[in-house]
Amino acid sequence: MLGHQQTVSRVAEVSGVGLHTGVAVRLRLAPAPAGRGIVFRRLDLDGFEIEARARHVARVSYATSLMKKGVLISTTEHLLSALMACGVDNVYVELDNLEVPILDGSALPFVQLIRAAGIRPQRARRLYVRVVKPVEIVDGQKRIAVYPSDRLRIRYRIAFAHPAIGEQECDFVAETGRYEAEIAPARTFGFYEEVEKLRQGGLVRGGSLANVVVLNHDGVMNAEGLRFPNEFCRHKVLDLIGDLVMLGYPLIGHVVAERAGHALHYALVSRLLRDRSAWSRVTAPAAAAGVSAPAADESPPARAAAAP
Ligand SMILES: [Zn+2]
Repeated sequence: MLGHQQTVSRVAEVSGVGLHTGVAVRLRLAPAPAGRGIVFRRLDLDGFEIEARARHVARVSYATSLMKKGVLISTTEHLLSALMACGVDNVYVELDNLEVPILDGSALPFVQLIRAAGIRPQRARRLYVRVVKPVEIVDGQKRIAVYPSDRLRIRYRIAFAHPAIGEQECDFVAETGRYEAEIAPARTFGFYEEVEKLRQGGLVRGGSLANVVVLNHDGVMNAEGLRFPNEFCRHKVLDLIGDLVMLGYPLIGHVVAERAGHALHYALVSRLLRDRSAWSRVTAPAAAAGVSAPAADESPPARAAAAP
């Protein structure tokens, strides 16, 4: 059933705390009909629904939050990343509070939750946004661009003046199994000096070494260390995949990101949605599932393209 929309087979749930609010929350995935998309439901507000679409994106500084008629769903990106990567097109995400639980700070617990719920193909065809011409956004040293490609590919580069990070690069091609092994386990991260500042601003109240990789001037404070040497860059890829969900359909294109973050990810989504000449809506490209032979990739090397 390649190229068909999918939902979850049955209800599955998980509990945790919100990274920013620190409040306890229960999250439940439930099957949704074809064409419905990913829809959040606030069970504490009579099941009020907020679709995971660009028009509801509210705040993108430290997390991607959705808002509709004043009702908020916070920190959606790790769950959305897992849903996108697992090929779940239609699902109800039911929450009894305003923030998606942070769990271990990665997307792996969400992949496991989706696995527990099972995945069921639906009759309707899946639609994709296939990029047909380059789109680039430059903001000082930050940059994000997308080029035509035969599948979703992401090349991400970050640079932090910190000994545990430095310059890191990550090249991800959406193929079966790679996300779960290479991207999903990468945890969110933050700098110790910023934590107090963020707390005063009402953020990271649920943050701890159990769900955030914390860096001080010496290095990584978490006793267990890192899951990958370039875990930071991998987490950026994880976030980007989640933010791309706001396009409404899976993206087929080669994204190149440098020193980017939620704000720039979302700027790319907004630009694509505005520039209808940059993409076409297509059904069922075998390549998108990673099953065809690689075709010529039209994107230039990241460094060569970096000059504004
Ligand atoms: Zn993240």
